[in-house]
Amino acid sequence: AAVEGHQFEVAYQPIVSALDGAASHVEALARWRHPKWGAVSPGEFIPLAEETGQLLAIGEQVLYAACKAAAQWPLVDGYALSVAVNLSARQLREPGLLALVANALAVSGLRPACLELEITESMVMGDVEQTIRMLQSIKALGVRIAVDDFGTGYSSLSYLQRLPIDTLKIDRSFVSGCDRGGPDMAIPHAIIFIGKALNLHIVAEGVETEPEKEILALCGCNEFQGYLFSRPLASSAVDAYLLSKSK
Ligand code: C2E
Ligand code: MG
Ligand code: MG
Repeated sequence: AAVEGHQFEVAYQPIVSALDGAASHVEALARWRHPKWGAVSPGEFIPLAEETGQLLAIGEQVLYAACKAAAQWPLVDGYALSVAVNLSARQLREPGLLALVANALAVSGLRPACLELEITESMVMGDVEQTIRMLQSIKALGVRIAVDDFGTGYSSLSYLQRLPIDTLKIDRSFVSGCDRGGPDMAIPHAIIFIGKALNLHIVAEGVETEPEKEILALCGCNEFQGYLFSRPLASSAVDAYLLSKSK
């Protein structure tokens, strides 16, 4: 009923550049507004919707909504913002995914370079060759690919080398408290090091404090996402946020 009744909304969380703090892209995060229960968190409904197969329909709605919204955002200092959309394991296995992405771009008029799709490491398991082919064909459209929650899945270094990816997102669990240094900084440091060596763009997720940001920036992390910068925003609040960040 929620899918048919369009009870899903999309919130957008800014991701900012380590260089100047300007938003460079925005992650689309699904929200369920239940008429009686209010806001239901994705942590609750995403696993259930994945199990029942309905995540395909929700994912499709999020993709169309995100592309449409991003195509209409104002330029920040002359640059168009990109939007990142999370894919589910089921979506990645659907042969129709390529056509869906191409259609979402065509309908919205969003430039392919302004769309990034986030996958997780565990989604690649299973038919690796087929996943690589799918990702390659999506990349051929000009769309970027990110690995989300990096470090919490299988963290296969050979996949890191073989997958056609652009961005690595360091999972929040490694970012939280990394400013204590020593063993708490070891993993984020190593991820940044390996990602840079592979020419990937590195985003730290869940940055909540200034000291976390400082040490990650010193290690060469390119971008930050987290409550320190902004919580996920309702789509109606994104324009104002972006305009407030223009020089
Ligand atoms: P994710 O893709 O890793 O998204 C980041 C999550 O971290 C978001 O939670 C965001 O609100 C939260 N977050 C960001 N900054 C901070 C921070 O500084 N501190 C803390 N404590 N949390 C922070 P959210 O929106 O609850 O989403 C949870 C997960 O649900 C997402 O994790 C993603 O895996 C999944 N998800 C959300 N929307 C979609 C969707 O449209 N499709 C699919 N397949 N999965 C989605
Ligand atoms: Mg994500
Ligand atoms: Mg994540």
